[in-house]
Amino acid sequence: MTAKPTIAIIGAGIGGLALAAFLHRAGANVEVYEQATQFQRVGAGIQMSPNAIRVLRSLGLEQGLRQRAFQPRSWDNRVWDTGERLSELNFADAESRYGAPYLLMHRADLHAALFSAVPAHLIAFNKKLTGLDRNGASIDLRFADQTRATVDAVIGADGVHSIVREVLLGPERPRFTGRVAHRTVFPTALMRDFALDNCTKWWGPDRHIVTYPVTASGDETYFVTSVPDPSWDVESWSAAGDMEEVRLAFAGFHDDVQRVLAASPQVHKWALFERDPLPRWAFGPIVLLGDACHPMTPYMAQGGASALEDAAILARCLDNVNDVEAAFRRYEATRLERTARLQLTSRENTWGKRAIDPGWVYGYDVWQTPVAASGAAPGVAS
Ligand SMILES: Cc1cc2nc3c(=O)[nH]c(=O)nc-3n(C[C@H](O)[C@H](O)[C@H](O)COP(=O)(O)OP(=O)(O)OC[C@H]3O[C@@H](n4cnc5c(N)ncnc54)[C@H](O)[C@@H]3O)c2cc1C
Repeated sequence: MTAKPTIAIIGAGIGGLALAAFLHRAGANVEVYEQATQFQRVGAGIQMSPNAIRVLRSLGLEQGLRQRAFQPRSWDNRVWDTGERLSELNFADAESRYGAPYLLMHRADLHAALFSAVPAHLIAFNKKLTGLDRNGASIDLRFADQTRATVDAVIGADGVHSIVREVLLGPERPRFTGRVAHRTVFPTALMRDFALDNCTKWWGPDRHIVTYPVTASGDETYFVTSVPDPSWDVESWSAAGDMEEVRLAFAGFHDDVQRVLAASPQVHKWALFERDPLPRWAFGPIVLLGDACHPMTPYMAQGGASALEDAAILARCLDNVNDVEAAFRRYEATRLERTARLQLTSRENTWGKRAIDPGWVYGYDVWQTPVAASGAAPGVAS
């Protein structure tokens, strides 16, 4: 391997962009390969908890996001029809308790912020990875447009259907949960005399809906559902849902939910997938990050947050080292236990339903947590 190894990041999503920004700052020789031809402003919100904000802060993105995002009082948990409060995750004291705020934002605002932290020339669009081969000390990448690249190390940040994971571990589709998420962002003005002023999860017997504003001014409103639908396993931003179907699925829910659903002109329908925790994800000079290695249900709002955590810890492990493989093993050893716990806890879908101490999630500090001194033995990529 050369003194300054060339590192390819596959996927310019939340985790891939954050890692690229950290590695570029550290002077690494990094290139990002993204299958999309460009980024689109798709309709979805995202919750960024204090553990994630700490990562965004170190990329210089916190202030801009604070200005754009909505800062909720709490994550309010209510009974679907009566609105009776079950419990509340209080964020009024998030900054004194966890050292960072809890922010609700448009996913595109988060993505744009991360994108702005990476020099444009480091991201190659329209580069859908189709395969990779170990070739002595280097790795050959193959793309759908018939081009190739040769690098020293690869980080698979290519999401829940990761091709890098498939190359390493063989084909195994993520498990369809039998549930779908409907989600959309729409102008709050469409609700006329009504507006949300907090984040609320409405818990029904076999389904739920989460509603919140995604801008500081509250002029954009978001909802995301989880509804049983074993017949639908499509995951695409171009997959339109049917608002009438959503209204029917939530008939009888509280008036506040009805107002949101009545006003929403359109919706995306997104199948929910997950996987069991992996025992390892570092294989010599190839490693996984984010949903590629620990996809989880969205019920704790920690999938994106944990991809950001991965990026920060991996950047710490790679800082000033020439032995990339050892760095990858240390990263894996540092992250495995926490991400498995997040996956398994999220799967239960009980987060916030009863009074809990969320400190282990929100209080995690990527900059203070000890990085493992060494990891497992090197693996062999197929
Ligand atoms: C309904 C829903 C709500 C959610 N809400 C939250 C929330 O509130 N808070 C939170 O923290 N998380 C949330 N999540 C989870 C979060 O969206 C994911 O965990 C997060 O996007 C994972 O980041 P990532 O970088 O690993 O993958 P992604 O963000 O999915 O990025 C993967 C990237 O890789 C690219 N790619 C894929 N395959 C290839 C290929 N072969 N070649 C090149 N590029 C490729 C993709 O185009 C994409 O850009 C939610 C998820 C869902 C489904």
